[in-house]
Amino acid sequence: MGEKHSNLWAPWRMEYIRSLADAYPDQPECFICDYLAHPEGDRANHVLQRTGRWIILMNLYPYTSGHLLLAPHMHTPDLHDLDDEALLDHARLTRDWIRVLTEALHCDGLNVGMNFGRCAGAGLPGHLHVHVVPRWNGDTNFMAVTGHTRVMPLSLDEMYDKLREGAQRLGLEGIP
Ligand SMILES: [Zn+2]
Repeated sequence: MGEKHSNLWAPWRMEYIRSLADAYPDQPECFICDYLAHPEGDRANHVLQRTGRWIILMNLYPYTSGHLLLAPHMHTPDLHDLDDEALLDHARLTRDWIRVLTEALHCDGLNVGMNFGRCAGAGLPGHLHVHVVPRWNGDTNFMAVTGHTRVMPLSLDEMYDKLREGAQRLGLEGIP
């Protein structure tokens, strides 16, 4: 400790990147495409929503509790490959999940962001994805978050159920 964290949004930390890569040793191709192809595994894979063009899932190595990934169906690293409909869906889904996270977790704020390329911190550079990360006042680093009593010590499964219920309450479609 004692290290100053002036950047609140720091998913490019190497330990994070390594953990993400290590999480999928059997799927060097693309775990998002694998999840897309296997809807029967949605619960085990913590997939929260499927729409015509996007899939929403929980990050197995969350920066904070409730860290989500939004990914288009198309396996591409390039935002230019998405058509206007897909981009509009992205905006809608970001709006919807910000609301789910805020209501379910009572977060004080959120980060929404994309990393392009490994040098920019993308753990899966081939398939673009959007991070949605709930934030709480004072959670200036990961230790502060996990060590803080206000943050619910939920397992991934418990968090999945909580967010899934929140999404159903708001009437979102395509919830597994
Ligand atoms: Zn992919």
